[in-house]
Amino acid sequence: MRPKKIKKTDDNKLLIYWNDNSESLLDVNLLRDECPCVHCKGETVIFSSYIPIKDPFKAAGYYEIEKVETIGNYAIQIFWKDGHNTGIYSWEYLKELSENKKSED
Ligand SMILES: [Zn+2]
Repeated sequence: MRPKKIKKTDDNKLLIYWNDNSESLLDVNLLRDECPCVHCKGETVIFSSYIPIKDPFKAAGYYEIEKVETIGNYAIQIFWKDGHNTGIYSWEYLKELSENKKSED
């Protein structure tokens, strides 16, 4: 499965049309909060975990998408207006987020 088309809606959501004709509507805020990159999500190193510090003072543009680029045929990379762009969202991850299957943590 892969997206046929990805577009940003006027109410700050990302609408993904999949090639099986399903659709996912993702809140841009959710995408940013669930950014899968090491900086945001932390990284498990053997025997210890790096826990990222959530910055309560979000920079301007924190929840605004500058652009979205497709990475190969498995993911998108989101460029945020505050300059953050290391989050790679695989199709699978996007599906998970849209279906709220992700466990709370
Ligand atoms: Zn991130």
